[in-house]
Amino acid sequence: MRAVVYRGANDLRLETVPVPRAGPNELLVKVAVCGVCPTDIKKIRYGTVPPPRIFGHETAGTVVRVGARIRKFRVGDRVALHHHVPCLSCHACRHRAFAQCAQYKRTGITAGFEPAGGGYAEFVRVLPFVLPGVVKIPARNSFLEGAMLEPVNTVLKAVKRLSLLRGDTLLVAGQGPIGLMFTRLLALRGMNVLATDLLQSRLELATEFGAKWAVSPKSKVQSPKPGAKRFDVRCSALSAFVLRVTRGRGLDAAVIAVPSDAVVREAQQLVRGGGQVLLFSHTRRGDQAALDLASICVDEKDLLGSYSADFTLQREVARLVFSRKLDVRRLVTHQFPLEQTAAAINKASHPAIDSLKMVVGSG
Ligand SMILES: [Zn+2]
Ligand SMILES: [Zn+2]
Repeated sequence: MRAVVYRGANDLRLETVPVPRAGPNELLVKVAVCGVCPTDIKKIRYGTVPPPRIFGHETAGTVVRVGARIRKFRVGDRVALHHHVPCLSCHACRHRAFAQCAQYKRTGITAGFEPAGGGYAEFVRVLPFVLPGVVKIPARNSFLEGAMLEPVNTVLKAVKRLSLLRGDTLLVAGQGPIGLMFTRLLALRGMNVLATDLLQSRLELATEFGAKWAVSPKSKVQSPKPGAKRFDVRCSALSAFVLRVTRGRGLDAAVIAVPSDAVVREAQQLVRGGGQVLLFSHTRRGDQAALDLASICVDEKDLLGSYSADFTLQREVARLVFSRKLDVRRLVTHQFPLEQTAAAINKASHPAIDSLKMVVGSG
C-alpha cells in the first residue's frame, strides 16, 4: 500500500509499505480521510521523534478486516478512530489525568513502524487497547465529520477544565480550527465569547460560530488613556474593550489557542481575580516566559493547561459533532490526496485567509 513515511525533520516520503496485518483482537481499517493536526506538524518540522514513522491520527475510514475475537464491529462499518485510550485504573487515571497514563501515551493505531497514528496511509491497524475508542459514524454523517471527533474531544476536555457559570465572559485568542471549536462549544454552553484573530475571514466565521464579539487585536485604540505618552496599542485597545464589555470586572477566563507568549501575558492581565487562563497551543518544550507570579498567588488567577483528549467524553463529543450542533464541515477548507500530504502540512502551517483545517485522503 502507499504511505507517507516520516524519514527525519521535514522529510516526508511517499513509499510503498506492506499492508498491516490485524491480529485476532484487532481491526484493519481502510483510511478515508485523516485530519492534519498541529501536534504532528511540529513533530515533523522539528524532528522531535525518531524516524521512521507514519503520522496522522485524526482518522476515519471503513473496517475491512475484523479479528476473529471481535464481536462489536463488522466489515463495512464506517468508523472514527481514537489513537489514545487510557487504562482507567492507574494512579493518573484515578485522578482523571488521562493524558498522563502510561497506556494512554502509547499510540494504538499504526500503518507500520513505531505506531504514530498511521492515518497518512491507505490502511491502518487498530490495536486491542484502543478498540473502546472506535466510534461508528452514522449513515447521515461523513467520514470527514468522523475524523474531527479527536480534535473536538481535546477542546471539550479543555472546556471542562474551566470553572464557568452560564453567562460568563471569555476570551478565545486565535480562531483557527481549534479556536473556532472553542468558540462554538463555549457559546453552546451559554458563554459570552470574545473571539480574537488577525484574519478577518476567521472573525466572520467566529461570529457565525456564536462569538458575541469578534475583534482583531490590531484594531485601532478606541479609548486611549489621556496623557499617556507610550502605550501598547494592541494591549490597550483590547483591554479597553474588555473593560467596557465586562463593566470593569475583567474576563472570567481566557483560552489561548495561539502559540504566543505575548497573548498569554495580555490574557493574564485581562482576567479578573480568581479567573483562569488556559494554555492550549504552547506545546513546544523548553520555552520560558516571564510572568508576574503575584497575579497567580495574590490575584488567584489560575494558569492551566490542557493537552490531548479525554476518552470518557467520546459519546458527548460524537453527539455534538454528529448532530451538527458543532458543524465541523465548516472548518475543513482543503482536502489533499494522500500523495500530497507534505503540501497539506505545509499549507496547514501557514494560515491564510481561505484556509482552516486540512485533511488528507479521498473519502
Ligand atoms: Zn490531533
Ligand atoms: Zn491509566
